[in-house]
Order: sequence, then structure tokens, then C-alpha cells
Amino acid sequence: MNKIVIVGAGQAAGWAVHTLRNQGYAGEIHVVSNEDHVFYERPPLSKQVLSEEATLESLNLFSIDQVDDFCVIWHKPDHAVKLDKAQKTVHLESGKQLVYDKLLIATGSRARIPVSAWSSMEHVYTLRNIQDCQQLAQHLKTAQRIAVIGGGWIGLEIAATARKQGKDVDIFEYGSRLCARSVSPEVSDFLKELHEKAGTHVHLDATKLHLIEASNKQVEVFNADSSLPLFDCVVVGAGAEIAKELADLAQLEVKDGIVVNEFGQTSDLDIYAAGDVAIHPTLGYCIQSWANAQNQAIATAKSMLGDLTAYQDIPWLWSDQYQANIQILGTYQPEQTKQVVIRKTDENQISFFYLNEQHQLINMIAVNDAKLVKLAKRWIANSKQLDPAQLQDINFNLMKLK
Ligand SMILES: Cc1cc2nc3c(=O)[nH]c(=O)nc-3n(C[C@H](O)[C@H](O)[C@H](O)COP(=O)(O)OP(=O)(O)OC[C@H]3O[C@@H](n4cnc5c(N)ncnc54)[C@H](O)[C@@H]3O)c2cc1C
Repeated sequence: MNKIVIVGAGQAAGWAVHTLRNQGYAGEIHVVSNEDHVFYERPPLSKQVLSEEATLESLNLFSIDQVDDFCVIWHKPDHAVKLDKAQKTVHLESGKQLVYDKLLIATGSRARIPVSAWSSMEHVYTLRNIQDCQQLAQHLKTAQRIAVIGGGWIGLEIAATARKQGKDVDIFEYGSRLCARSVSPEVSDFLKELHEKAGTHVHLDATKLHLIEASNKQVEVFNADSSLPLFDCVVVGAGAEIAKELADLAQLEVKDGIVVNEFGQTSDLDIYAAGDVAIHPTLGYCIQSWANAQNQAIATAKSMLGDLTAYQDIPWLWSDQYQANIQILGTYQPEQTKQVVIRKTDENQISFFYLNEQHQLINMIAVNDAKLVKLAKRWIANSKQLDPAQLQDINFNLMKLK
């Protein structure tokens, strides 16, 4: 094998390249990216980079020297538009055609705009990449009234960042609670309280939102027929669309994302997928998280070189909002949950444990307790049986349960 093509240059692509070279692969690596940046991570885009507490350079996954040493053949900015499985060729918008021995699709996802008319409004933003972040950060310098549409993780982080800058912030969530797809009702309540205590207005059940652009480009937001004072800036954080078109066109097996086995292989064994775009092999749906993109890509890159490495990581993601570092371990599975235990050490530190019938941990949300998350990863990996009374008792040292 002498030629690997990777489409995308985000978290998954970067770690795939790093792994390929680390494992001694000396052949060609072609990377196609429709952004003009080298491998970078996105989490700070809604946090420190948006507030300009961190620089754009801090987003780089690797140093300039490391990237040089990867000896990547770049095709950027360019867009992969077609995949010909039979000819093992990727067609680019520029007209280039790249023949591969093995292909990795790491195209991630993009921000979803639920109403297409909103895209043409000048002061309505989404946040997915560096360019989006620069534009939004620029506007936040002068805007005072901010509407955030979508009460998921990215929407809540943007709201917290803006509120910390002293902006007046309203969050509009379509559902009846925040982050409903990934956490339980009690965690949604915790999040709502966190934002309301900070002075943000949270509007739930906002199912009939209507936006009108005023002549000065401010935006009027109608929520269930009542209108609020004009907003200077609207940010839509209403979920992501999986960038799976290449696989769709090539008729690979695709559901909500690209179907892969535990080695990252798609229904065509020379084509792999990793990161947001790939369905998690054991959970059966796409996990959109930094750690998933990185670790699935590492395992997949090893498998591409013949060192079959199964990806079985327990999902883990984090979110920073105000003073709260929120870590989510495992997945929210209401049907499997037999007991919920809440451990509140103090005002700033609280953990939610979800146990199955055998008293094993299947999901945990920890606020400001990274050490406990590390330990809980071991509990899940070892299917440890836990005593709910000990979990709840703040005088019991959980570190004893190693
Ligand atoms: C604002 C923001 C904040 C986040 N915060 C957190 C967080 O706090 N914690 C956490 O765990 N996760 C967070 N995430 C999620 C995490 O960043 C993603 O899960 C991760 O970036 C996925 O990596 P990826 O490589 O799969 O995709 P991406 O990073 O999206 O990279 C895919 C790249 O492929 C390019 N591309 C797509 N199609 C083509 C094509 N046809 N041709 C060429 N190039 C193409 C895209 O433009 C993009 O550059 C956040 C995401 C965002 C946007």
C-alpha cells in the first residue's frame, strides 16, 4: 500500500495522520479539506476563542514542525465531490482526481439551520468553524442583546460565553428541557438553573419561533406570538447535519451516519470512516465529541495499516459553562436506568449517577469533578457493582472504590 487519501482535516483526520506516521507508514498521505486551515480542534470556538481569551493558534492539534514532518500532500481549500469505488478514486471540485489504496472519510458534520430563510439574515450566525467564530466574535464586540436558538451543548456554551461578557442573553429551546437528547430531566433542570442564576432567560417549548429582520439588521424574535425587544445578534445552535454525502453518492451503507465496523471499515473494505460522520460501532448512532473523533481515528488508522484495532471506547464529552466543567460519561439510556443517585458535595460540585438493574454505572454527569470521572471510567469498563448509599454519601470517600 502506498497511497492513503483522507477527506477532511479536523480532529479525526489529524489524529489519523499522526497515527499513520507514528506507526511507521511511509507512503503518500493526501488530505483534502474544504477549509484553508491545518488540523485544528473545535471545542474552544464556543469558549475561550469566542471570548478572545485564547488565540486561533491555540486550536492547532500539532505544532508547525510536527505537521511538516507528517509530509502530507494537501489539497486545500478544495472539496471532495464524488467517490468512485470501482476506480478507487476521489474527485475534487478543482477537477483533480485522487486514486487511493485506502480512503478515510473524516468529513464531520455541519451546523443545522432549521429555517432556510434565517441563513440570509445578516445578524444570524451559526458556529462550526474558525471563520464562523471570527465573524461572531467580531459582532459580539458591539452587540448587547443576544438570542441563542437551541438549548443543546453548543448553544448553552455560546450563551454562557456571551453572558460572561455582560451581554443580555435569551435562549430559545424547541423542546421542553435543555440538552434533552443527551441527559436526564434532573440534569436539564440543573443546566436551566445554572443559566438562570447567571441572568440568562431560558424559553422552553419554543416551537413556533419566527424571525423577522428589521431595517437596521436587528432581529425580531416572535415566540408563540409574543415578541421581545429586538436582538442585535442571533446564534443558531440547533444541532448538526452529518456530512455523509460522499458515502451516500457512492452507495456505501449509510444510516444517520456512515456505518462502520469496530475497525472503522465501511461496507467497502478499503474505505474507512471516523469521527462525527461515522456511526459508533457498538452504540449504533453518531457520537459528536472531541474524544470520539480522536480515539476512533487512532484505532481506525492502525486498522488501515493492518494492525486491526477495535474501537470500543466509552463515550465521554465535556462542556464548560460559566464556572461549571460538566463531564458526561456513557450515554443516557432511560430504559436501562433503574436508579438515579445524586451526590452534591457543595454548591459547585455535583454528580449524577445512573445505575442499571445490577447496580452498574451506565451514565454519569459530573460537575467540577474530573477526578471522579477518571475513576468512573474504570467502574464502567470493569462493570463494577456500586452501592447507591455510598455514592450519595458525601462523607464516604469514593476514591476507596478503585
Ligand atoms: C463550536 C463547537 C464546540 C464544541 N465543543 C465540544 C466540547 O466542548 N466537547 C466535546 O467533546 N466536543 C465538542 N465539540 C464537538 C467536536 O469538536 C467534534 O465532535 C469534532 O470536531 C469532530 O471531529 P471530526 O474530525 O469528525 O469533524 P470536523 O472537526 O468537523 O472536521 C471535518 C472537516 O471536514 C471538512 N469537510 C467536510 N466535507 C468535506 C468534503 N466533501 N471535502 C473536503 N472537506 C470536507 C469540514 O469542513 C471540516 O473541516 C464541539 C464542536 C463545535 C463545532
